[in-house]
Amino acid sequence: MTIELDPVMSWLVIIGLVIVLGAAFLIGRRTGVRRALKTARRYAHATNLSDAEADPATRYRAALIVNPTKTDVRRLSSTAEAICRFEGWSPPLVTETTPEDTGEGAAVRALDEGVDVVIAAGGDGTVRAVASALAGTSTPMGIVPLGTGNLLARNVEVVLDKTEWALRIALWGRNREIDVGTAKIAEDGDTHVFTVMTGLGFDAAVMADTNADLKSRLGWLAYVEAGSRKLAGKPSHVKVTFDDEYRILARVRSVLGGNCGKLQGGIQLLPQAVIDDGMLDVLIVSPKNLGQWVGVLASVLGRKASNGLHTDIRKCQKVVIEARDQLDIQLDGDPVGRSSYLEMAVMPSALTIRVPTVEQRKQIRAEAWPV
Ligand SMILES: [Mg+2]
Repeated sequence: MTIELDPVMSWLVIIGLVIVLGAAFLIGRRTGVRRALKTARRYAHATNLSDAEADPATRYRAALIVNPTKTDVRRLSSTAEAICRFEGWSPPLVTETTPEDTGEGAAVRALDEGVDVVIAAGGDGTVRAVASALAGTSTPMGIVPLGTGNLLARNVEVVLDKTEWALRIALWGRNREIDVGTAKIAEDGDTHVFTVMTGLGFDAAVMADTNADLKSRLGWLAYVEAGSRKLAGKPSHVKVTFDDEYRILARVRSVLGGNCGKLQGGIQLLPQAVIDDGMLDVLIVSPKNLGQWVGVLASVLGRKASNGLHTDIRKCQKVVIEARDQLDIQLDGDPVGRSSYLEMAVMPSALTIRVPTVEQRKQIRAEAWPV
């Protein structure tokens, strides 16, 4: 049996509904119905929790991989456990990184356990190690930034100094696919993954020479200290081949391949770099003396490094750098030794990361600026 409404009646029903919904919205704003809804949602969570307790197999589970040199692991894991419990997730699988396994092995084990998200809690080194295991899989990576640079977190706008929010974003954030870079420091060597930048020459020498103790006390200023000691070095002859076809010869201090380009203090080293465009931005820095370094600095600060004074940036999918000398190499800030060969390429959309949703951004702002 069907109910037939004449057109006038249907319009009356629609108008009536619009008026009722509009009134409910206006009254809701005034009387805090939103707050009531939030409470209701909290009760709904409690219900989910008891349902899920009956069947733990259906609950989400996170792995938390922590660099113990950056934080108090017990405190972080109890915060993570509390948030997981509140959100109806199983207790997290917590693993500490070690000098032997900086996070990749732990992330592989977490994947074997079938977790729903792997959270890297540490600096860019820990993020890189975890990303190495997750690249090419569909398991997302969360980030709790605890390092000096936290460059990936900065580039994807994960909150930097709110651990609890970083954990919530890891659990319920939006999935975003990003590119990862790959690097080889010998023609037949192993392939390493990086998420932010890999470089050869000056930048890597600075990172290799930065005093770890000074870094933990002064943060990025420690790099400035090491940098000032390295400025006066000699340029090196290099052959740079872009996408197997375009080759340049140059005398450089540094060649850097980046997946994204934002540094500390809002500095955009690679202003055109996009984290999911399937391209690497390659920066060639070639000052010959201290005076020309001033030009480099001005170009970077003025966001004109792409065609600046003694700097040049090109986009490509693959780049091979062959140097006449052995030069320092760094991957996402980790010194990995010296080589005269560096090959970098991009794996488009290879890694899924959790970034804040619009609603989470709003809540974080509301907490920062209570009205
Ligand atoms: Mg890119």
